[in-house]
Amino acid sequence: MNVTTLPKPPRVGLVSLGCPKALVDSERIMTKLRADGYDMSPDYAGADVVLVNTCGFLDSAKEESLEAIGEAMAENGRVVVTGCMGKEADVIRERFPNVLAVTGPQQYEEVVAAVHDAAPPVPSPFIDLVPEAGLKLTPRHYSYLKISEGCNHRCAFCIIPHLRGGLVSRRPDAIIREAEKLVAAGTKELLVISQDTSAYGVDIRHKAWPWKGQDVRAHMTDLSRELGKLGAWVRLHYVYPYPHVNDAIPLMAEGLVLPYLDIPFQHASPAVLRRMRRPANDAKVLQRIRNWRELVPDLAIRSSFVLGFPGETDEDVAYLLAWLEEAQLDRVGAFKFEAVDGAPATSMDDQVPEDIKQERYDAVMALSARISAEKLAAKVGSATDVLIDRVDDEGGATGRSKADAPEIDGEVHLRDAGGLQPGDIVSVRVEDSDEHDLYGVPLEVSVA
Ligand code: SF4
Repeated sequence: MNVTTLPKPPRVGLVSLGCPKALVDSERIMTKLRADGYDMSPDYAGADVVLVNTCGFLDSAKEESLEAIGEAMAENGRVVVTGCMGKEADVIRERFPNVLAVTGPQQYEEVVAAVHDAAPPVPSPFIDLVPEAGLKLTPRHYSYLKISEGCNHRCAFCIIPHLRGGLVSRRPDAIIREAEKLVAAGTKELLVISQDTSAYGVDIRHKAWPWKGQDVRAHMTDLSRELGKLGAWVRLHYVYPYPHVNDAIPLMAEGLVLPYLDIPFQHASPAVLRRMRRPANDAKVLQRIRNWRELVPDLAIRSSFVLGFPGETDEDVAYLLAWLEEAQLDRVGAFKFEAVDGAPATSMDDQVPEDIKQERYDAVMALSARISAEKLAAKVGSATDVLIDRVDDEGGATGRSKADAPEIDGEVHLRDAGGLQPGDIVSVRVEDSDEHDLYGVPLEVSVA
């Protein structure tokens, strides 16, 4: 008998830093490398080359990226750097002159070529390892779906447009095809991401492409509707409150899209928003939130806020706190303003001292925690659908309701949940709550 011994494929280690968008980039790169015959290495020691996908959004993220590169150099020594910090190749090379290559964000071909140079692939007609949906770094049951790259705005605290360039939207048919494959491979939740989801398609004038016998425009509403038809949960992230967001609300009422909006308001005071140069800075947004909730009463709104932006006064913060009390947002993340090298806000007058930033941050977090606790307490006794993320050995399980995105929102902790698996969707009676999480029991353990 002739036995063909397959050559050992080279192994790539991956360190992926930063936001979900960077994670999607890592998935895309690893999918391509897997297609080229590479194996992944779970540790430095077994890797022929280590790829570090960096984040350069804030100075603290840059420092974290440099530390990760340093660790990979010390542990392995054969390192390719990519991602947002790749734009600052000179900074990286100054600190680590022996890195093999530095490539920037979305330079997929360059980074794959650099890995090929560092550890050449071993051609084999017998190796075809790419699963239909590509290689994923998230659990099988949820997937990030990146619909565009870059951003056309110029917010004063942000260097993303400088790092990633202007808005470049993907074709809607390509996005839906990718989503279809993900759902076929077991994805139960599609998390739509971009820098500004509401702006999707602006750069290509909302051009329509044929998809299964009809035309689908490159537009948030059309895309959301088509994604909703695939049967998975569809969650919209990074939505700016432009007027056409109103059109997504009926899709939520129809059950095509989750009743959830992640809107990065960043502040409420008109004076601060103006100085921040925020898009969709609409003074009537509170009224719009009221209108949305009339149509979709269980709409969950998550947002993030920056405290201590240059020039922010006590009055601005009082305005924000009153606004938050009125808006009753479900989930709030707060950040203290951090000066980023290259961002216009860094050189603005009236920088706010750190201790004042901290006080303002604490005030926003305390109010948001109280509102969140009250809103969650109101759910005790009701039934809610929960997507299971993990199960334990003692009959318990943890998942998320439609109001909870992975990693950033709360969770639902279940007792007596034996028989459930990650990816199951189960109806749950809510028994208790705290500031961020719900506690409950499955109503039935028949699963979706
Ligand atoms: S919308 Fe503003 S904060 Fe968001 S990526 Fe664009 S410039 Fe940065």
